[in-house]
Amino acid sequence: MENSFWQPEVETLPRKELEKLQAEKMRKVLARAQQSAFYSKVFADIGFKPEDFKTVDDIRRLPFTTKDNLRANYPFGLLTCSKDDIVRMHCTSGTTGNPAAVLYNRHDLDSWANLVARSMFATGTRSSDIFQNMSGYGLFTGGLGFQYGAEKLGCMTIPAAAGNSKRQIKLMRDFGTTCAHSVPSYLGRLHAVFLENGLDPKKDTQLKRLFIGAEPHSEETRQRIQEMFGCKAFNSFGMTEMNGPGVGFECQYQAEMHIWEDCYLLEIVDPETLEPVPEGEIGEMVITTLDRQAMPVIRYRTRDLTRIIAEPCKCGRTARRIDRIKGRSDDMFIIKGCNVFPIQIERILMKIPNVANDYLITLDATPEGDTMLVEAELHPDFFTDDYPQLKTLQHKIARELSDEILFTPLVKLVPPGSLPKTEGKAVRVKDNRKG
Ligand code: AMP
Ligand code: ZN
Repeated sequence: MENSFWQPEVETLPRKELEKLQAEKMRKVLARAQQSAFYSKVFADIGFKPEDFKTVDDIRRLPFTTKDNLRANYPFGLLTCSKDDIVRMHCTSGTTGNPAAVLYNRHDLDSWANLVARSMFATGTRSSDIFQNMSGYGLFTGGLGFQYGAEKLGCMTIPAAAGNSKRQIKLMRDFGTTCAHSVPSYLGRLHAVFLENGLDPKKDTQLKRLFIGAEPHSEETRQRIQEMFGCKAFNSFGMTEMNGPGVGFECQYQAEMHIWEDCYLLEIVDPETLEPVPEGEIGEMVITTLDRQAMPVIRYRTRDLTRIIAEPCKCGRTARRIDRIKGRSDDMFIIKGCNVFPIQIERILMKIPNVANDYLITLDATPEGDTMLVEAELHPDFFTDDYPQLKTLQHKIARELSDEILFTPLVKLVPPGSLPKTEGKAVRVKDNRKG
């Protein structure tokens, strides 16, 4: 496929000009932010005036914004305009206390839809495609975010929403779906329902592309999804606080995600010192919205760990790429002094063909110390209740995990479909130590 662009003039802007554009947009963002109760106080506290901002490096003079700031200023503390101008809100799935809410005016919704359209276009999606959105609709941004983006691109869109696999398959086959969006953890289950119904998505659908995101997943998981569905799976990064999907997306080369830097200012900092890390090193991603009017967010600490890939991409887009998300700093757990990210466990499990797609890590405190149990579902084709055979495989997996995380967990292989399922993002860790 030749290189082509949704907005060639922006997507291929030479970096020097892109940085100039960012600085210009940043000045406007700061002037707007000043209108909100929250940022006017932040600026006053440090004696900062938006007109003091000259180059993108000046951003370091500003403090970070955290999820706690958004929660504490819920629901309107960061609003820069009249409530009459708001046309939508979304919020994160906070389980206790206030969630972080995001408010959008008409411009913000158009800008967001445009970024999702740009992202989908970069994968090769065109208006002739038929797009099925298997993501939850409602407050979760993956539903409406992709819906409006795909409509802007001109695709016929099927707002199937999450779950109900039999209906997903029927819609996919009846309407000839060519591309679809889902959290990666759902696709293994959808595939199982295809097989239960005597169907093979490789032969019995017209799928060409899947967009997978909203939760951390490994390259091994992507490979599995591609094999199960016989099509390409593109990594999609987004978060509610930054609109939702359409912040970062892989292009047709599937060479990690371009962050749309004309609309998001990207920093990677050391999560401890909060100083920038040298380019290419892993740290916490910090993002500033450059194109949001109703509720700009400055230097937002995403908690997501990644690194910048500065080398130009073959596609010709000048927006830099970020590496697959390694995990969230708050997903990391410590067991017997070892720092572990769930994705490290996933990478090992997904390399083993006998293991299916779902797993659960349970941490417990016992009088003998903390324990870690890794339960993994067996693949239906390899299902066995031959105990010695299972035991050998469990030992092998425990050894491989211990090489990776430097701690030997208990491993239990369980029958296909036996672990609890969620409709949205998968829950991979149950930490019972926290009381
Ligand atoms: P939400 O605001 O509920 O959409 O959640 C946003 C969070 O989901 C991000 O901060 C990431 O931790 C995670 N996330 C979103 N997209 C990806 C992705 N492609 N890979 C890994 N994690 C992701
Ligand atoms: Zn590219």
